[in-house]
Amino acid sequence: MLRIGTGFDLHRLVPGRRLVLCGVEFSHPTGLLGHSDADAPAHALADAILGAAALGDIGHLFPDTDPKWEGADSMMLLSEVCRVVRSRGWSVCNADVTILAEAPRIGPFVPQMRRRLAEAMQVDVSAVSVKATTMEGLGPVGAREAIAAQASALIESADGAVSGGSAV
Ligand code: MG
Repeated sequence: MLRIGTGFDLHRLVPGRRLVLCGVEFSHPTGLLGHSDADAPAHALADAILGAAALGDIGHLFPDTDPKWEGADSMMLLSEVCRVVRSRGWSVCNADVTILAEAPRIGPFVPQMRRRLAEAMQVDVSAVSVKATTMEGLGPVGAREAIAAQASALIESADGAVSGGSAV
């Protein structure tokens, strides 16, 4: 059985924060604000995987009210999401992530981002796509006030025996 899921996330860009996208840190005057490292594309991807399995979202799994996740490495969160999904009998077939950002330039870092995501998800790098687009100067992303990301993921049941339910 195949299942598809989608995810979306947006974080505000502020001075004095690190900018981490798909597990790669950028040298940039602003960074993403959030409870964890605020890696928006990693969060969108984690939500896509959880969505495919109908297992809720990362806000549910890692509440921002829990000090345990403060400053958390989102590669660790993604890895944990994949562990939960695998424990329910699913494996990730492929994932596709689109980063919406006016800056920095993402292109040169795509191979490194794909490797980081693939490693966290324990899948082959050929199954992970990362791409980016600007918003042509429009809206909060265009004004460099935020970076957003969307993702989709396909999962399959490893042996046909999938344990359902939404309780994570
Ligand atoms: Mg987020």
